[in-house]
Amino acid sequence: MRALRRATPAPFGAFDGEPRERFGGHQVTLDSKFLERLSGTCAIIDIAPESLTEAGRDWWPISLRWALSGAVTARPGVVARPASTAEVAAVLRCCNDAGVPVTAAGGRSGVCGGAVPVFGGVSLDCCGLQGVLEVHNPTSLVDVKAGTFGDDLEKELRSAHGITIGHWPQSVALATIGGSIACRGAGQYSTRYGKIEDMVAGLEVVLADGTVVRTGQLAAFGAGPRSAMGPDLTSMFVGSEGTLGVITSARLRGHPVAPEERRAAWAFPSFADGLEALRRTLQRGATPAVVRLYDATESKRSFDGLDTNLLIALDEGDGFIVEAAMAVLSEECATAEPLDVSLVEHWFNHRNDMSALELVIRAGIVVDTIEIAAAWDVLPAIYESALAALAQTPGIIAASAHQSHAYLEGACLYFTFAGQGPDPSDDAWAEDFYRRSWQAVLGATSIKGGSISHHHGIGLVRGQYLPDALGAGFEVLQKLKDALDPRGILNPGKVGLRSPFGAPPWQSG
Ligand SMILES: Cc1cc2nc3c(=O)[nH]c(=O)nc-3n(C[C@H](O)[C@H](O)[C@H](O)COP(=O)(O)OP(=O)(O)OC[C@H]3O[C@@H](n4cnc5c(N)ncnc54)[C@H](O)[C@@H]3O)c2cc1C
Repeated sequence: MRALRRATPAPFGAFDGEPRERFGGHQVTLDSKFLERLSGTCAIIDIAPESLTEAGRDWWPISLRWALSGAVTARPGVVARPASTAEVAAVLRCCNDAGVPVTAAGGRSGVCGGAVPVFGGVSLDCCGLQGVLEVHNPTSLVDVKAGTFGDDLEKELRSAHGITIGHWPQSVALATIGGSIACRGAGQYSTRYGKIEDMVAGLEVVLADGTVVRTGQLAAFGAGPRSAMGPDLTSMFVGSEGTLGVITSARLRGHPVAPEERRAAWAFPSFADGLEALRRTLQRGATPAVVRLYDATESKRSFDGLDTNLLIALDEGDGFIVEAAMAVLSEECATAEPLDVSLVEHWFNHRNDMSALELVIRAGIVVDTIEIAAAWDVLPAIYESALAALAQTPGIIAASAHQSHAYLEGACLYFTFAGQGPDPSDDAWAEDFYRRSWQAVLGATSIKGGSISHHHGIGLVRGQYLPDALGAGFEVLQKLKDALDPRGILNPGKVGLRSPFGAPPWQSG
């Protein structure tokens, strides 16, 4: 049996003793009675200082900077490591009875501070729930435990069953399936296989009071491919970021491993021209697995100085379908300049390389990425205005974007920004620059009616923006939260929801 895998520590983790906490002082106190009861709920209750420190951080880029100077975001009082749904339920019942916060964590590869227990309490490490439960025939549906890492899942499905889920986020080796579902993530092959919400056929979720619910195709009589049995409860938990329940397993849709693959690349005179070719392609019904359009700044940075708006495409699947999809794309790119397909190879070989991130943060540069989504007609304007707003941000040294993940009605734009102040070690300057840069991109997106996140989620960093973005719908979400988690114990301070433990620290400065 494979050894249990735990989260990969985020960079810069050499903390000595009790580290400084960026959001310290907000944590609830855990009394001995609670700790005694908690110790009876699950096999591993961990209070080792290094475990608390590790559980107090994720890959939120501004917090990597804090880590560099020896600070973690916020530590829990204890880490619970359940190995079964029953243990998750027992931990939640215990926390609910005592009114103690409990924050689910998977690979802690989230980049929005989502898995950080800002009010302390219990960090619930879901990595003990690991492994494929069953692969169904002939449907290719896959039941998998939530703490399974993405690459482990793909390896096992491909080698033992000849199937793939097709979920390939850049963080596939860092993120768990439960975390991907909780954040509503997207993989690099999403234009053929869909986003995670398209892959999930059903969920097992534990509610705050310990009740176990099974939704969608995991419901008692839900095994049909589609249903009209009231609203879809699965989608309520997809993207809920640990605030409505803890996902313990999922049923995912599998596909035969692709027998064919094709690649192509083109140069466009402008970013908008490239977007337009993609719109026409998608609206003709062609869905090549990977279509990524880099603006000239990103092409130069990522493709050895190539000074153009570069579209790379890769499709895989049944030979007839791949041939047709790539033929449609080629027709729609007829006026663009065809480029060597070795550019796709270059992307493929470097697609998960994160070494540059560590280097720039170590150099005192403030950096992050912001992914948004919008309709085809407003994407060029959002691209222009977000980059213009970033260019006005004092201290900016680089700003760029690429398009990834395309749909019938629009696409995702993925912005990258970097800045440096007069004193690279000045954290106050860094945080101010960071907030202004986020405001620049999310402001340009909201004014055109775009979505303020495509796949990273809300966590802490976008919490303050969600009420406006959802309008009256936000109060519906809050009512759902209040109904499912009346004591507010599940991941308090996230997704902009109100918390009985106080205002979320990042929002309140
Ligand atoms: C280098 C890098 C590249 C990335 N690339 C991508 C990408 O291509 N696509 C993409 O979508 N994302 C990407 N991400 C972001 C991140 O990997 C995803 O958000 C991922 O889905 C997080 O999964 P995780 O297991 O690490 O979750 P965590 O970070 O541990 O948790 C994230 C959120 O989910 C909640 N959660 C975790 N597990 C559960 C559970 N079992 N039940 C309920 N709630 C839970 C947590 O409370 C938290 O709110 C990237 C991150 C990095 C660092």
